[in-house]
Amino acid sequence: MEKESIFGVKVCVTSYEEILNFIDKDIINKKKSFVVAINPEKIMKTRKNEFLKKILNSASYQLPDGIGIVYASKFRNGRIRKRITGIDLMEKICFLASNNNYSVFLYGSHEEVLDKTESVLIKKYESINIVGKISGYGKTDSEIVEIINKKQPNILFVALGSPKQEYFIYNNMLKIKCNIFMGVGGSFDVISGNVKRAPVWMQNKGLEWFYRLVKNPKRIVRQIKLIPFFVLTIFKK
Ligand code: UDP
Repeated sequence: MEKESIFGVKVCVTSYEEILNFIDKDIINKKKSFVVAINPEKIMKTRKNEFLKKILNSASYQLPDGIGIVYASKFRNGRIRKRITGIDLMEKICFLASNNNYSVFLYGSHEEVLDKTESVLIKKYESINIVGKISGYGKTDSEIVEIINKKQPNILFVALGSPKQEYFIYNNMLKIKCNIFMGVGGSFDVISGNVKRAPVWMQNKGLEWFYRLVKNPKRIVRQIKLIPFFVLTIFKK
């Protein structure tokens, strides 16, 4: 798959259709793959964290998740023109799974959010085979590995926030009997209905970040850290 580098972090130049095809083939061929969503916040973290950079670059597929990635690519004459969001890809993978009887495991978030996420997914994708779920609090990695290995799912969604979920996948994916490992951040919160996503028109205009800021003004602390990303984009062409 074609990739370009944004400040040393690989990002795929792809579409939902292409990436789903790759994921489908990986499951059929029993290949392990690691899907990670890239946004400006993660790229800025890699500037002080070489280990995180190594992990993100070691993934099989790096999604251009944030609108800032699209702008940075355009500005630097790259070829990324559209976002591929972690949550939308997760839903499309669930659809793929329900049509092909691929098993799914959910790991992360609080118990109630997890239960609700499972029931919403079952309602939406009737024949989805969710073989297990574990909340993201209170268990050690080795306990988690043991529980997942009893189920041997095809797809594991990990919702621990970043970079916790990327560390978990990187450190444990060889021990876990599963094909697709995907970090999905706050997606369970959205799917369960606990957190509302921006209206589609705002998503299409690249304003999802603004909606999240208005809904949760505390995010300003996280978003302010992104100013250097845009400064770098402009001046380090
Ligand atoms: N979370 C978890 N265990 C932890 C820390 C966080 O399960 O030790 C969950 C938390 O409940 C939430 C998600 O991880 O559902 C983090 O969402 P956030 O929106 O912060 O992630 P982002 O996509 O911004 O990285």
